[in-house]
This record gives sequence, C-alpha cells and structure tokens, in this order.
Amino acid sequence: MTTIISLMKQVPLPSQMRMGEDGLMDRTKAKSIINIDCSFALEAGLQLKSMLGEAKLIVCSMGPPSFEQSLKKAISMGYDEAYLLSDRKLGGSDTFATGLAISTMIKHLGFGKGLNEDFIIVAGRQTSDGDTAHVPSQVAANLEIPQATFIEDVQFKDNHVIARRIIEGGYQILKLPKPCTLSLTPTGIPPRRPSLVGAVKANQTKINILSVSDINLSDEKIGLSGSPTIVAKVINIKSERAPVILSEGDNSKSLVESLIKNIKSGKNSLEEREKKVSKEKVAPGEYEKVDFRDGASGILTWAELAQGEITRPSLELLTPAKNLANSLEKGTKVRTVLIGHNIEKLANELIYHGSDEVIIVDDKRLEEYRILPFSSIFAEIIKKYNPEIALFAATTAGRELAPRVAVLTQSGVTADCTGLEIGKYIDRKNKKVFYPILESKRPTYGESKLATILGFHCPQISTARAGTFEVPKRDERLKGKITTFKPKLKDDDFVTEIIKTVRGDGGLANLFEADVIISGGRGTASDDMQLVKDLAKALKEQGVNAEYASSRPMVDIGISEYARQVGQTGKTVRPKVYVAIGISGAIQHLAGMKESETIIAINTHPQESIFANADFGIVGDYNDIVPELIRQVKDGFIFGINKGD
Ligand code: FAD
Repeated sequence: MTTIISLMKQVPLPSQMRMGEDGLMDRTKAKSIINIDCSFALEAGLQLKSMLGEAKLIVCSMGPPSFEQSLKKAISMGYDEAYLLSDRKLGGSDTFATGLAISTMIKHLGFGKGLNEDFIIVAGRQTSDGDTAHVPSQVAANLEIPQATFIEDVQFKDNHVIARRIIEGGYQILKLPKPCTLSLTPTGIPPRRPSLVGAVKANQTKINILSVSDINLSDEKIGLSGSPTIVAKVINIKSERAPVILSEGDNSKSLVESLIKNIKSGKNSLEEREKKVSKEKVAPGEYEKVDFRDGASGILTWAELAQGEITRPSLELLTPAKNLANSLEKGTKVRTVLIGHNIEKLANELIYHGSDEVIIVDDKRLEEYRILPFSSIFAEIIKKYNPEIALFAATTAGRELAPRVAVLTQSGVTADCTGLEIGKYIDRKNKKVFYPILESKRPTYGESKLATILGFHCPQISTARAGTFEVPKRDERLKGKITTFKPKLKDDDFVTEIIKTVRGDGGLANLFEADVIISGGRGTASDDMQLVKDLAKALKEQGVNAEYASSRPMVDIGISEYARQVGQTGKTVRPKVYVAIGISGAIQHLAGMKESETIIAINTHPQESIFANADFGIVGDYNDIVPELIRQVKDGFIFGINKGD
C-alpha cells in the first residue's frame, strides 16, 4: 500500500509576524495557522489517496510542541498518523539543516531508498515566514528521489504521479515514478474543512513526538552548527518615492485630463534625506584573518533556456557576477553553464554580456530543463571547477535547482536575493575576520526588512530575484572561452518524463520587457479584469510595448494566470510605467513593482497605501476612469513614455 507523507509547517499569522532582535522570526506572540501552501499540500495528499483507492496518510512536521494543534487539524481532515520532530537543539536550523532533519525523520519512519519505496511526499511550495521554497528540494535531494516543485494539480495514473508544474510563462506536465516529492502552490484545489467525525478522531489520536536522538541525528548536523548559512544583519527598508500627485476633477473626463497634465509637468521631487554615513566595520588588528575558500575561486552562473533562448533573468545574473568578480582578486573568472541541445550559437551571447567562459553541456535529452540531470551536472561541474560562488536566477527552475545542488555540494543557499556584494564577517567571540565573503541580501518579513545572509561553505550559493539587476550591456568586442563538458549521466536521471511543455503569451519575457504594465487587483474583479486588458490592448495598438498583470488574489481566484502575478511570490518588474488599478498596495505586492520608474494608482480609497508608493494617482472607480483612459490612449496619450527608447 502506498504511503502519502505530507510535510506541514505551522506559521505565525502573516499579519502578526514579528522579528526578534537576532533577525530570526519570533513566533511567540502571534496566532498560529497551518502555512497556506502546506494546507494545499494536505488537500493534494487526500486527493491522491482517493485516486489510489487505498493509501496510508501520514503528516510530519518539525517545530515546537505547539505545532501539535496543526497536526491534529490534519488528522481531522483525514490523515491517519502524525509525527512531530521537536527538539530545542533544532533551533536556528537553516533550510539545509531543516531538509536534512526532515529527511532523516522520514528515513526513521521506514521510507527511503532501500527501505519502503512505495511513498509520495507532498509539501507546501514555501512558507510565509521563510519564503525560500528550498526545503522540498532539499528533502528530495537527501532522500535521492525525484521531485517536482511549484505544482498546481496532481493526478495518479498507471502507477505514476502526473503533476502540472508552473513554469515561467506557462506550465509543464510531468510524469513521476514513486517515490517522489511534490511541492504544492496555492493555486490548486482549496483545502477541505475538518469534518465533525474527523475532529473526534483527532481528539483521540496521539501525536508522535520525536527528538533528535530518537531519529539518530547527530547534534552537529542540526541547529546553528549544522547550518551552512547565518543571518548576519537585518535592517528596515524605507520608501524612496516622493509624495503622490493626485488628479483633480469632478468627473472621470476631468480626472483623466488632470492626470495627463500632471504627467506632463513631472513628478514631485524627493527631498534629499540626510544620508547617514555608516561606520565601516573595523576588526581589531590582532583578529585572525580567515579565508575559508580553501582554494575555491570564481563565480559560476546558470544560463537558463526557454524555447531555445537564454532567459532574461540569466543574463541579469551576469551583472552581479561581474561586480563580484571585480571585487575579488584580479583575474577572478565568471563562468556560465549552458545546458541544452544545439546551443553552441548561444555561447557567444553570454560572452558578449560579460561571461569569461561558457561551459557547454550538449545532449538531446537535455533540450528541456529537468531537475535530476541538471542538478547532477552542476554537482560535477562544481567539483571540477571549484567556484567560490554559484548564482542562479530565482525562477521556478532556479529556485528548485539551487537547493538540490546545495545538498549535493554540502553548501548553504540563500533565496531570492536583491543584493549580492563581497564583504567581511567579524566574529568577535572567536576573534576572527572572515574575508572575502558573499553578502547575500534578501527582503524578508513581508518585504519590510532586508536581511544579509552569509554562507561559510564554498560554493556560496544564491538565487537572484528576476528583474532586480539590469542586463549588462551587450558588447560584441568582448572575448571569452567556450568549453565543452561531458557529464556522467545515469538512466536514473531521466526517470521523470516531460509529457508536455506549454508556454503561453503571458510569459516571463513579456512582463519583463514591457514598457507599460497595466495591473489589476481585487478591485477589478467585477468585470474579470476586462477593462485592464482593454487598456493594455489599446496601448499595444498605439505601438507601445504594453502588457497586463495582476495582484495575487486575482490569480488565486482564477481570473489571472500565475505567470502574470506581480509581487513577493510572483514576479519583480521594473517597467517605465506601472499602472496599479484596484490594488491596495500590500507590501507583498509592492515588493514586485516598487522599482518601476513611474507608478500610477487608480483606487476608490485615498487612504490606501498604494498612493503612498505612487507618483501619480486618481481617486475614483475604475469602471469610470479606465474607459476614459482608453479613449485618451486611442487619441495618442501613452503615459508620457517615448516609444522604442
Ligand atoms: P485588496 O487588498 O483587496 O485591494 C483591493 C483594492 O481595490 C482596494 O484598495 C480597494 O479600495 C480597491 N477597489 C475596490 N473596488 C474598486 C473600484 N471599483 N475601483 C478602483 N478601486 C477599487 N500579493 C500580491 O499581489 N503578490 C504577491 O506576490 C503576494 N505574495 C504574498 C506572499 C505572502 C507570504 C502573503 C502572506 C501574501 C502575499 N500577497 C501577495 C497578498 C498580499 O498580502 C495582499 O493580500 C494582496 O496583494 C492584495 O491584493 P489586492 O490589492 O488586489 O486586493
């Protein structure tokens, strides 16, 4: 009989999250809930059971004893057994140590290679208090089993899992054998409510509590000592936008005319804030200098392909890669890994964008990205080239590949970075200075803080948020080396079949390259975002590179596609003009668009925080304002941009 193992985390209610002095989450004062993505995984497990006919359902978690309440809820939804790995020694574990602890617990329960192999793991894509999406990949890597992440639909047919995986601009249908790990997004089947009978069963079911010694995990592999990364610093993020200019008028026509006039006159200017000069960190001279790289050198990046082209986020990576190389020893190389089939012609593009060496892996079976062979290729290349830093774009592929590679190379990984710099770490307790070290900066705590994460194992791995860095200027005079690499691939690397890959017109490239983005929020649900789409279309008809996008609720209720979601868990865009219509301006949404050159807000409520983050605004109902805007666009108004700049 197949066992379905659901990995579940209890998290503080996002609106009540607090951060402790140490930069780590303080969950003591917040009400707790089952992490949203995990509740979709719990439901997927129940769905799988009904397709299998017969299956045992186990729910596992790692955390303090208070997590019992969520495990009981899972039992009341229909799960049979619950296990909680709870031990003070686990405190401070990063995703690497967490992935190891959870996979060790699963092995302890009798599942894994060479043990009972008839199992499927379902997990949430990511947690609202960590937001890395690493753990499912790391659990799969530790158990050496196939995985599929960012899944929104699962079926079970012919003894295989058929999973629909979100990819940039579309989706992929994958066929996976058992055992495997799946991570679920909240665009799947909504979780059921616990039944009354279930609640009674939950009351009578004992939650099995396990300690670290129960699962035979040694103390140095968990907690702070087992974590290759640490949170070194957390600072507040401040808005850099000048006060909004609101349109004046008593009807939609005059309000839109006022907007056009305001855009012509220009934005308010931001008063120069007094810049605090932060003191350079100085370590006393007697501190021991530590270069932990131990011979590792150079920056490795991955050139992700989509439909035979290098994706924009992979080219963006070359900007921080080059900057990091320039801050390190003279001659530090940027090497880029290019995997696919018939791809030699693309290598020069990477060199023209700044890569010093392109390592080509060409194989017919590698035409489309696949986690298993790609991660083993990276592990081999890292072993051979011994880079000190490895960078991946934080795309759906990069966010599952980097953590799997991290497990294979025993390194730490930092997710979704918006800043990558070389710095130093002063360890005052042990009187040591670690230099050079990669400072990976990532927004955290609902995007209101910026955390600096350090890793002390090479390669120091990070994923970079797409849309954050500029694509380096293309220069055909740049020279570089092209090398071919022949990996040792096994048949086992290809056990997951790609049944279909579909990329629609709502692709990553479109949103990243659009000059004007018209974005609809929950306030535009009444016409299924039709006016939002019409405005984008009218701009296109004027020759403007325009696209429509949306906030997350519109994706969750099925009006918009995930590929068009802007924000913390969607895309980061920086168009010339971002028009936010019926969007309140939650920090998670702002995270994805606040770098736009000009932001225009249309909202019925003047107190909404979107106005505090916009340059121009109209207070009004979009049903009246947008048709008037469309009329003006048809008459030539294109939001003040120059076409084709
Ligand atoms: P609401 O907040 O409901 O706002 C709707 C707005 O429409 C209101 O301001 C209202 O005044 C206005 N309105 C209503 N009617 C009209 C009308 N007729 N004309 C004009 N205006 C009107 N959100 C994202 O967008 N992207 C993310 O990536 C994302 N990631 C998240 C990650 C986590 C971990 C969490 C916890 C949340 C995330 N969210 C994300 C959700 C986010 O917190 C907000 O809930 C969401 O952004 C709100 O979307 P909204 O502005 O469309 O809806």
